[in-house]
Amino acid sequence: MAEMAYCVKCRTKTEMVNVQQVTMKNGRPALKGKCSKCGTAMFKILPAKK
Ligand SMILES: [Zn+2]
Repeated sequence: MAEMAYCVKCRTKTEMVNVQQVTMKNGRPALKGKCSKCGTAMFKILPAKK
């Protein structure tokens, strides 16, 4: 399953690879990965579950 995220280097939404789900300091879930095109680290904040 491919995750799309905004890449600051490509300046567009790209496919994210090596996706890992992480939890931020404030307890919100987020996805961490790399841009499939340029390899830049990407970060995507997930909507908080209620
Ligand atoms: Zn990129």
